[in-house]
Amino acid sequence: MGLIVQKFGGTSVADAERVMNVARIVTDTYKQGNKVIVVVSAQGDTTDDLIEKAKEINPSASKRELDMLMTAGEQISISLLAMAIQKLGYPVISLLGWQAGFVTSSVYGSARIRRIETDRLQSELDQNKIIVVAGFQGLNKYDDMTTLGRGGSDTSAVAIAAALHADRCQIFTDVEGVYTADPRKVENAVKLNEITYDEMLELATLGAQVLNNRSVEMAKKYNVKLEVLSSLVRKPGTIVKEKVKMEKMLISGVAKDTHVARISLLGLPDEPGVAFQAFSRLASKNINVDIILQSIGRDGTKDISFTVAEDCSAEAEEIMNEFVASVGGKGVALDNDVAKVSIVGAGMETHAGVAAKMFEALYGAHINIRMISTSEIKISVLINEEDADKAVSAIHAMFIG
Ligand code: ADP
Ligand code: ASP
Ligand code: MG
Repeated sequence: MGLIVQKFGGTSVADAERVMNVARIVTDTYKQGNKVIVVVSAQGDTTDDLIEKAKEINPSASKRELDMLMTAGEQISISLLAMAIQKLGYPVISLLGWQAGFVTSSVYGSARIRRIETDRLQSELDQNKIIVVAGFQGLNKYDDMTTLGRGGSDTSAVAIAAALHADRCQIFTDVEGVYTADPRKVENAVKLNEITYDEMLELATLGAQVLNNRSVEMAKKYNVKLEVLSSLVRKPGTIVKEKVKMEKMLISGVAKDTHVARISLLGLPDEPGVAFQAFSRLASKNINVDIILQSIGRDGTKDISFTVAEDCSAEAEEIMNEFVASVGGKGVALDNDVAKVSIVGAGMETHAGVAAKMFEALYGAHINIRMISTSEIKISVLINEEDADKAVSAIHAMFIG
């Protein structure tokens, strides 16, 4: 008995049969005496399709109108799921993000949840209704609908669980939990019974799309007990929590991110303030920089390379062209055909030779490393995009077998 938040992703509600399947999972939980709030994503590829539709009409449409369009996807799935639950004979109500009290920042397309005004949720729960909430959306201070960024429904679910102190937040998806690598790409990926918030946050940030990274960040902050499990097979999934019982594995996972780009600034003057100027120009446009590499100064010049998310690479290139010209540098080179492959594991803090082992795996697969970055619990390498899947398999085989 308790309050349980259950989130179902796009594949889990893709068609009528899947919607009925979700309705049965939800009502089974309710029947056991729990209060249930359900968060759903848009069906199947709906969000992608809506974005395509917008592009056909106006490729540079405003982000406000894009959000107005994208929020429609989740409106379809909440109503359909509520109808399915009605059919099974249970009290239910569907709510859009704003009706459920989601107040967000004003940035369209990547809004942040500021707070949830829980009165409506609370009153529907008090009437013993199952509540079905549209994920991925909220309302900003202009009373406009916003979206939270791709994959944002996970964050909607965790936010409700945090705001209402739910006993558990279950993220139902199309795989059985969190694996040591994407189980659709790596045949012998292993399902993890549990993983720490910190490792999961790194994996999610480094490209394991099974959980949105902001949802993990929020779960850690508010200590939400998170479980990732399958909507198609009824068995225990992966628990994400502060501490795990056994840290027997050196590496908890391998992740890849192909949506990265590398920018090189060539022939910059080798003097103080150059890096500061370059990166502050990017920061002022909210462009996040990831791996940074600077060459040794020679003959009064140096090169700086860094990576950014692929979708802001063109803007970053333009800003850097202006900057390099202003300091009399040689030029800017942009490469979109790169990928970042990373290993994550709390065990590497106390074990030597982890990086060497990863590089050995890449050498064995004849893959050239173009950049490297490390932190306490992760090592990332930048490689050519065409090598990404091969790299993940080779590294996975080296550490996990
Ligand atoms: P949903 O629509 O339910 O939100 P997503 O497509 O966002 O589902 O996330 C689930 C997908 O994440 C899986 O189908 C799987 O291919 C992918 N994935 C990537 N890395 C991992 C991993 N380490 N463990 C599990 N799934 C992963
Ligand atoms: N429907 C949104 C997307 O496709 C949100 C989500 O699935 O979490 O990104
Ligand atoms: Mg998702």
